[in-house]
Amino acid sequence: MSHAPSKSEVYFNVAADHLGLSPQMRTLLLMPERDVKVQCAIRMDNGEIGTFVGFRVQHDSARGPMKGGLRYHPEVDDDEVRTLAQLMTWKTAVVDLPYGGAKGGIAVDPRSLSKGELERLTRKFVDQIHDFVGPDSDIPAPDMGTNAQVMAWFMNQYQKHHGFQPACVTGKPLELHGCEGREEATGRGVVIIADRLFHKLGQSLAGKTVALQGFGNVGSFTAKFLYERGARVVAITDVRGGVKDPLGRGIDIPQLLEYARHNNGVQGFVGTEPLSNEDLFSQNVDLLIPAALGGQLTALTAPTVKAKYIVEAANDPTTPEADEIFAKNGVTVVPDILANAGGVTVSYFEWVQNRSVVHWPVDEIRAKLEIKMAAAFDAVWQIAQDKKVPLRTAAYILAIGRVAHATELAGVS
Ligand code: NAD
Repeated sequence: MSHAPSKSEVYFNVAADHLGLSPQMRTLLLMPERDVKVQCAIRMDNGEIGTFVGFRVQHDSARGPMKGGLRYHPEVDDDEVRTLAQLMTWKTAVVDLPYGGAKGGIAVDPRSLSKGELERLTRKFVDQIHDFVGPDSDIPAPDMGTNAQVMAWFMNQYQKHHGFQPACVTGKPLELHGCEGREEATGRGVVIIADRLFHKLGQSLAGKTVALQGFGNVGSFTAKFLYERGARVVAITDVRGGVKDPLGRGIDIPQLLEYARHNNGVQGFVGTEPLSNEDLFSQNVDLLIPAALGGQLTALTAPTVKAKYIVEAANDPTTPEADEIFAKNGVTVVPDILANAGGVTVSYFEWVQNRSVVHWPVDEIRAKLEIKMAAAFDAVWQIAQDKKVPLRTAAYILAIGRVAHATELAGVS
């Protein structure tokens, strides 16, 4: 390839070198199978026409139907969707789900639309893409700016074209073929992985100090389950500010969850000191968990990190430059494609239940999630030990190896 490699290609190439992949196989695996951009025009509440751009990138289907979120955010563009679609291919492969990877989105700030406009926009997007998505080909799910309601509209509109097909999308409301435990799944998976990491090291998550960036869906459930397993979350930030426990005993998470619900964030929680986002990374803690935006750990912020362990709950939070700094400084990083795969794993459980017309209880979902995440962690850990590589490289070796092997077995005619 003649262009400079993107961030995701840097990680890809390191693993591809270990696997000895040919240049042709690399090209095949990096190029999306389909990359579409559609116009979504709707009537706005004030009578004017609103025109939005929708994206869907289907990256790879070698291992099964493609799976990936639908993001509504003003900064959604071709590059972001392509990168995230590729990450989904590796993520579903690491946890060994029978899926490939996709991603989609609409460049819009959903908070600027009325509920009616949001519904019309979602339905128009479905009209534009329904021919090439579906339970056997590409199954969207919620992501930033979308939720169970958006998935319900998606399913309803898709069914107008194709009949009863609840498995066409996951992350639906419980009343509409949704799955128990889906909302908490990513945070639960993050904590299962953190627990497993310390277990492998002959240590315990209980008693460890943690700094956490983000207190949305993933961050808040991560904090809840860390607290339940005895870890001490001593620093948390969100978009409006942050809090720090000056005594280092650990913030009372159940009370903070209640406080944040009523105060639109964590800032000002009783018994804490204010903390800026910049200072979050340099906290003197055992474990750092980015659970907000991508690109947070950079050549600038990485040298300030004092934690010896990082579990990436957010997608793509670490730049390759920061990753190198962590390797040099002896910081162990559990990569996003493994650490935050709990959400897509429970989405898979939803799809299986929809296709079999059954409903599993929440305890069964949680037990199945624990087994799946632990198995994935152990497989990645083993590769890291055998090949003496960081966990990120090990996860990419496992994932890319599985996708390349499936591609070869199926054959390219
Ligand atoms: P969310 O919108 O529910 O929460 C995002 C959180 O980040 C909020 O607390 C927000 O205040 C905070 N935040 C935003 N900007 C910030 C900033 N500049 N500094 C500090 N905090 C900031 O989103 P989410 O669903 O929790 O997703 C968080 C991350 O996890 C994203 O990277 C997402 O792609 C990834 N992820 C989410 C899921 C899922 O199931 N929701 C699954 C896999 C990965």
